[in-house]
Amino acid sequence: MAEAALDLVVAALETIREKSDRAPRASKAALARLQSIDSISVSLPAAPKPSEGGLETSALVSHIHSATVPQTERQLRPPSDKADLLEPIRERVRACTKCAHLACSRTQTVFGVGNPAADLMFIGEAPGVDEDQQGEPFVGRAGQLLTRILKAMNFAREDVYIANILKCRPDMPPGSFGNRPPTPTEMQTCRPYLVEQIEIIQPAVLVALGAVAVEGLLGIRRTMRELRGRWHAYNDIPLMITYHPAYLLRNQAPSEKRKVWEDMLLVLERLERPISDRQRNYFL
Ligand code: SF4
Repeated sequence: MAEAALDLVVAALETIREKSDRAPRASKAALARLQSIDSISVSLPAAPKPSEGGLETSALVSHIHSATVPQTERQLRPPSDKADLLEPIRERVRACTKCAHLACSRTQTVFGVGNPAADLMFIGEAPGVDEDQQGEPFVGRAGQLLTRILKAMNFAREDVYIANILKCRPDMPPGSFGNRPPTPTEMQTCRPYLVEQIEIIQPAVLVALGAVAVEGLLGIRRTMRELRGRWHAYNDIPLMITYHPAYLLRNQAPSEKRKVWEDMLLVLERLERPISDRQRNYFL
């Protein structure tokens, strides 16, 4: 009965959101009343940080949805179990030859790095030449920029989890330099490994870096202008899409840095992390 009522509330809020330019807001009192519905079998997690006295409908709707989805056994597992669960996948990736051409050309596979119990997981497209040599994602110039972005968010690399759609470096013609983006077929072939990683890690928030990563993860091809700056979802996990750090290396305009930073501010808000005035004003 309570769940049916909750469905009605969610449906009504979604309708209002679709028909209005600005998302309506729910008061703290309204949220408290929703939280007091005692026949919901799981307790509501802490609500997303209210801004200006209320929660945006989209945040409230996803909050209710996530609160009513029963936690899986996997989500309740301790971090050490998550690390243990990732190991056999790492081994399968290490021995993988599903893309024969990449298995021949790679120096090594690049599985992923970071905290298996992270709240925040970043997804890139594929290893480049530096990653192929070091066996770790995002260690080249773009990776160093990602590390700086993380630092500005008050995260260390070890706090988050970082992985790519593809675990092998896309091959290049002999004698040529640089990197190439993975093909749709390569991404489709390798994607199941990433799906398993996300299933185990169960981050609170996913961040996809660049349109290629989005194509690999969601199977949709859109411009970054259409994708970034708003919440999406992957299997009920909130997904933020932003530019790949390599884009910021090519385009050093402060306005582009600010766009990425605004996306990261949304991520910090979603994770209920404190945000200083200094952080809010970066690149303004
Ligand atoms: S890219 Fe992925 S699927 Fe292809 S060989 Fe490497 S690990 Fe296997």
